[in-house]
Amino acid sequence: MCLKENKITPAEDIHHLISFMSTDDPVQRIVLAYDYDNLMSLCKKCHQAVHNKKGE
Ligand SMILES: [Zn+2]
Repeated sequence: MCLKENKITPAEDIHHLISFMSTDDPVQRIVLAYDYDNLMSLCKKCHQAVHNKKGE
C-alpha cells in the first residue's frame, strides 16, 4: 500500500484478505492462513489503516 504513495516501507505485517478467524473449520483456517493469494504484506501503519477502515 505504501508503494501506491511512492513510499518504500519494510513490510512488517501480513494482512489476510479473508480473515482466517472467519471459519470454524481448523483445516480451512490453515488453508487461509498460508494461501499466498490471501496474503498481503503491509507495514504496521497500513495494516492498522486497513483494519480501521473495516471497523475491525
Ligand atoms: Zn505502509
